Amino acid sequence: MKFDLGDGRYREIEDRANAIILDLDSILPPYNLEKIAEKLGIKVIKLSSLPVEKRKPFGRYFLCEENDAFVAIDENCKKVIVDDITRPPARVYFTIAHEIGHVVLGHLEHSELAEFEANIFARCLVAPYGIIRNFSENEFDVEFLSERLGISAKAAMHCRGRSLARLWWHDDDIPESTQELSDRYLNIRKGVVCD
Ligand SMILES: [Zn+2]
Repeated sequence: MKFDLGDGRYREIEDRANAIILDLDSILPPYNLEKIAEKLGIKVIKLSSLPVEKRKPFGRYFLCEENDAFVAIDENCKKVIVDDITRPPARVYFTIAHEIGHVVLGHLEHSELAEFEANIFARCLVAPYGIIRNFSENEFDVEFLSERLGISAKAAMHCRGRSLARLWWHDDDIPESTQELSDRYLNIRKGVVCD
C-alpha cells in the first residue's frame, strides 16, 4: 500500500535518519547498524546467534507471521530479533534499518502506515540522499550501488530508478540535515577531510 505522507512527515523521517548518520565517526555507508541500534538503546539479536533450542519459538513466530524480524519491548530494553538464517545478508541489513525505524518513529502497533514509514526511514538510512545525490551517473550502476551501500540488487535498482527519475528534493528545497550530510560527503570525496 502507498501513502501520501506529505513533505513535512517525509522531511521529519529523513531528518531522523540523517541525524543518526551525522552522529557517526564515519558517515560513509554501509553502516554498522547493530552499533547504531545499541546507541539508541536497541539490542539486535540475530537468530543465528541463539542456541538452536531457543531459535524454535522465534522461528515459529517468523513462520506464522512471514516476518523478517520483529521488535520486542520489555521494561529493560528494546530488542530487534531478526531472521538471518533464511534471509540473505543484504536483506537482513535493510530489515534491521526498518526495525530501527519502528523504534525511532515511535510506532506502537502494527499498521500499513507504520510499515510504509519504517521502509522510508530504512531507505533514508541505508541509501541517504545527502550522499547518493553526489554520485556520478556511472555510480548509479546497480552492481556498484549495491556494493557501495550494502543493499540488495533489487533495492539498488529501486534507488537508481528513484534517483534517475529525480523523485527526491528539488535542489533549492533540500532539508538542512540532508544538505549538511551532502557537504560532509563532498569534503571527504575531495579529500579535504579524512573520514
Ligand atoms: Zn515493520
